[in-house]
Amino acid sequence: MTEPRKKILVVDDDEMLRSLAADILSPEFEVTVAVDGQDGWEKAQAWRPDLVVTDLMMPRMHGYELCGLLKGKDGLPGVKVLVSSSKNFSTDISQAATAGGDDYLVKPYMPEELLKRVRGLLGLGAAAAAKPPPEPDLLTTMRRAAPAPAELKMQPPSDGPLPVYVRFWGTRGSCPTSNAKVAGYGGNTACVELRVGDTPLIFDCGTGLRELGDSLRTEFSGRPVKGHIFVGHTHWDHIQGFPFFVPFYNPANKFNIFSVHGAHGSLGRIFTQSMSLDYFPIPLSSLGAKLGFVEMKGSIDLGIAKVTFQHMNHPGICIGFRVETQGRVVTYMSDHEPFAKLGGVSDLSLRQDAEIVAFARGSDLVIREAQYTEAEYAIRKGWGHATYDDAAKFAIESGVKRMAVTHHDPYHTDEMLDANIEYCRGLIRQGGGVTDCFGAREGMRIDL
Ligand SMILES: [Zn+2]
Ligand SMILES: [Zn+2]
Repeated sequence: MTEPRKKILVVDDDEMLRSLAADILSPEFEVTVAVDGQDGWEKAQAWRPDLVVTDLMMPRMHGYELCGLLKGKDGLPGVKVLVSSSKNFSTDISQAATAGGDDYLVKPYMPEELLKRVRGLLGLGAAAAAKPPPEPDLLTTMRRAAPAPAELKMQPPSDGPLPVYVRFWGTRGSCPTSNAKVAGYGGNTACVELRVGDTPLIFDCGTGLRELGDSLRTEFSGRPVKGHIFVGHTHWDHIQGFPFFVPFYNPANKFNIFSVHGAHGSLGRIFTQSMSLDYFPIPLSSLGAKLGFVEMKGSIDLGIAKVTFQHMNHPGICIGFRVETQGRVVTYMSDHEPFAKLGGVSDLSLRQDAEIVAFARGSDLVIREAQYTEAEYAIRKGWGHATYDDAAKFAIESGVKRMAVTHHDPYHTDEMLDANIEYCRGLIRQGGGVTDCFGAREGMRIDL
């Protein structure tokens, strides 16, 4: 009697890759497919596969979260997980292992390679695949519950459109800097305010957040502040201002903090840990304001604005946001290295780059990073950042109205940045682009 065929669940939001993997595996295994992490989790519970092949960057639920669920206490005992992604950053490979992935296969792959890894994990014939070394388990030592999400205040749409503007509070990437040569563009790290009437929508919590907090305190002088904070990713340059935001210390204020589930646990836990006593004297639980951590699974409707997200190509999890509000569209996408530039030109990388362009298309303003010249990029490839040439190409392909280049390198002086931005504008003109491109400066306000 032959043994029943092993069951494999393929989870990928890319239809072509999903079918490809199913075609490769079907002759030997019983295969079911799922279109994203959420669908994958539901099908895994109902169908109980022996092995799950999962992508990382997917809408609704990403692959790290799916790994955690499959291997967690309510997961599937004994299930094997093969993570397959075009992201080949070493951070992702080790994070996938920590989240519960048993092996990692970089896309695009050869059919034999997928079969070899799957057979290895299932102990069929070929030697068992090597498990990548797990990261030191620093991040699982403290499992404090995140505060309960503050109720999402859905403001009803008002009669006429509310005034909308963008203000830059931090335009530096990687590390804050301060000297006379950088004063023009500013030295604080990533923080952008999008104001819709009285409601601040804040993108990233770099050191620029501190001054935004002071400004809100003065402006609201006693009236409660209700705002929404969107965090693209949680590297230091995007969260370091968080504990210094004075409106968090006022019990009358309410903020929802939006991002996706972390690679090693909940969003709330990441912020709780970032304010643990080793790093900061006041724990998150002592902040007076009502804070809600919201892990996005799709678009969010705030009443005054609709916000969607898209995964970016950066070590670890990183997302960009598209906001549709009052008849305007603003897209914020920081920290992104074009797929084709990092992994080489392939059908897949071109399709992924096209998705990023499509995400921003139709925007009145795109706020996006470009940190390096091509010469600098040559020695910083794989750091997860873009060049001025990349930004120009993006502007030409997307045809967006305006593009603010931000996340300036801390080593770039005002003089260098003026030249880099002028170079980027020149490339857009040469390529027949229509986008008005400028360098984001701290304090700059743009009415939309
Ligand atoms: Zn950054
Ligand atoms: Zn980063």
